[in-house]
Amino acid sequence: MALICLCFTGTDGEPVPGHFRVEEAIVGPFLKEGQVLVRTLFLSVDPYMRCRMNEDTGAEYLAPWGLSECVDGGGIGVVELSRCDGLSVDDMVTSFNWHWQTQCLMDEKLLQKVEPQLVDGHISYFLGAVGMPGLTALLGVREKGHVTDGANQTMVVSGAAGACGSVAGQIGRVDGCTRVVGICGSDEKCRVLVEDLGFSAAVNYRQGDVATALRESCPNGVDVYFDNVGGPISDAVIAQMNNDGHVILCGQISQYNKDALQSKNITRERFMVLNYMEKHEAGIIQLSQWVREGQIKARQTLLYFAVAFCSMMKGGNIGKQIIKISD
Ligand code: NDP
Repeated sequence: MALICLCFTGTDGEPVPGHFRVEEAIVGPFLKEGQVLVRTLFLSVDPYMRCRMNEDTGAEYLAPWGLSECVDGGGIGVVELSRCDGLSVDDMVTSFNWHWQTQCLMDEKLLQKVEPQLVDGHISYFLGAVGMPGLTALLGVREKGHVTDGANQTMVVSGAAGACGSVAGQIGRVDGCTRVVGICGSDEKCRVLVEDLGFSAAVNYRQGDVATALRESCPNGVDVYFDNVGGPISDAVIAQMNNDGHVILCGQISQYNKDALQSKNITRERFMVLNYMEKHEAGIIQLSQWVREGQIKARQTLLYFAVAFCSMMKGGNIGKQIIKISD
């Protein structure tokens, strides 16, 4: 089975399952030298995929999905046949270029081997808290956040109940922020943040005034802001930031309040997880250790194929949105 992209959506269009089709696909016929046959276990859906539904993705490093072609993205699975020296049958492998097929042929150079014991067998964590979103949170906080243990800092995270945000807030707590406050889009997400993930407080941006709720949740102002969303939510947070604060610009570029940033000497630097490839291996080890020790909880939401992507874009997920393909 393969998931096929049927149309481009234009910059404003909302993705719906009808933009995709599931087809029977024939794999093969032959395994070439340097290739493996993999069985897909889990697929990742991520916000950047929305850009791949435009003819012009807006980013040099992102190619649009081809019309009538199988879509691809982050995935993880198990090797079933191998004609590679470096990979054997039953190895677990992951890739950013995984075809959304139940089985597919892949080149060895596109695959990385993963060790299931790093996640106590919870393989899908490699697409979430112990994968790219976890690294984004870890390296974003460590490289741009300037969190200092004992400095009585307050961190705010927008998109806080999502894949990156839920881990970023927990790392803020582990690294020594006195208060960590999440902003997200439902009461259920707020409850998970505070009761399950150890956030100090949470604000539902769909209810009431964000600025008022933030003032109550952050009585000492905001020192570090992990920004996943931009726009009016970020304007409200930045307005309450203390002098010499830091914005970790992880998510979409927003219309922000330049005056406040300048007059308070707040740094606001764009962060790209792919610019820190040399730190990924150590980051994965650190994240897996925290998750196994229970210091960081890995939340995820499991759904099937195109429904999962469309749901995530509307906030249907708590933690990392994952697609389960096979056991
Ligand atoms: P999430 O798991 O957070 O899923 C997306 C979430 O965004 C939804 O659940 C929804 O939650 C929220 N959302 C959707 N529309 C809006 C809106 N208009 N205003 C506010 N919130 C909205 O995704 P990820 O954790 O994978 O990604 C989070 C951000 O980080 C994205 O912007 C992504 O592009 C970026 N990113 C950046 C990387 C980098 O290297 N800089 C790497 C990876 C991701 P809710 O219910 O709260 O609205």
